[in-house]
Amino acid sequence: MAGGSSPAFRPGDPLGIRRVLGRAGLLPQQADAVDPSLPIAEDELLVEVESLNIDSASFKQISDSCSGDVKKIEEAILGLVARRGKQHNPVTGSGGMFIGRVAQVGPKFPVQQKPVKVGDRIASLVSLSLTPLSIRKIVKIHPEIDRVDIEGHAILFASGIFAKLPTDLPDTVALAVLDVAGAPAQTRKLVHPGQTVVVVGGGGKSGVLCLYEAKRKPGVRTVAVDYSQEGIQRLQSLPFVDHVIQADARNAVEVMEKVRAATGGHLAEVVINVANIPETEMSCVLSCRSGGIVYFFSMATSFTRAALGAEGVGADVDLRIGNGYTEGHAELALGLLRESPELRKLFTETYC
Ligand code: NAP
Repeated sequence: MAGGSSPAFRPGDPLGIRRVLGRAGLLPQQADAVDPSLPIAEDELLVEVESLNIDSASFKQISDSCSGDVKKIEEAILGLVARRGKQHNPVTGSGGMFIGRVAQVGPKFPVQQKPVKVGDRIASLVSLSLTPLSIRKIVKIHPEIDRVDIEGHAILFASGIFAKLPTDLPDTVALAVLDVAGAPAQTRKLVHPGQTVVVVGGGGKSGVLCLYEAKRKPGVRTVAVDYSQEGIQRLQSLPFVDHVIQADARNAVEVMEKVRAATGGHLAEVVINVANIPETEMSCVLSCRSGGIVYFFSMATSFTRAALGAEGVGADVDLRIGNGYTEGHAELALGLLRESPELRKLFTETYC
């Protein structure tokens, strides 16, 4: 009900600060817990959630801690969300995003800037680590693609961003792409013609999008590093990947030597880290040329390990934190799937 007929709206709060529980002065992302209860505030959006796309590093951590037992994963997610009021993994610090149907639009939600109406199907583009969430029931967990189908509601603040789900792509494909949309969008900014680009963890969702995006620039040479045989085979089938390296990204020296061999000693101007496990920072630093850029999109990245590690080996490289948001990132990422038959086939086969 756009405009809202209920008189019981909370006061407006564009950053969601009033929903923070515990210590005052924190933003919802910093807070240990938030209050996902109803009614919404006059400038909030209420969404009936269909699926969560849990951040890959987070899902892997939860799954590993439950020995891959789906029942235990379900209990862990329910317990976490009940305690924190958001899907915010305390170990990885990361969240993910959701898709769902808009159930209510607060009368002061900024619909001029963010057009939306009740019934629209949307994907959130802000992290679940700050999004008030209440799960009534877990319908199904899809461990192989980090997706959890639920019944429940989420609340977006006036400052939040979202994308209307496209009609030309399956929802689950759009969900997978939008989750990592920041990575190819940043790649477009970072990579220049003629450069060599290494993508560590290249066989995953964000990896293949980054590799494709990098290769769109003239003369770019793409190198992908991945671990599993499955990931390697996937990468070898993609025409926009020039070199595929099978290595454990936690083994920095092995990765550097293989990248050096693949690039004739050149190494890379841009290294992108999209591995979903910890301790992969130094393979990226060592694969980067002096003066180059290492872009850490992975949520398993340690600032300390990257910064002190680079200093420790005297690597004069530019270390960048992977901002999940870049203006226009959702359309850019979805556009890559529309452009590339190989990407579309891969995402459809994997996520449908
Ligand atoms: P994904 O699809 O699970 O891909 C991760 C890749 O890392 C897989 O191909 C995996 O290969 C590879 N990998 C795992 N262990 C490895 C190892 N030891 N050596 C080499 N490669 C290894 O993940 P994603 O969804 O693309 O996400 C990638 C990262 O981005 C995650 O850390 C996620 O948390 C992060 N992320 C960041 C943001 C942001 O806003 N900055 C947003 C979303 C996601 P295997 O096949 O071998 O397992």
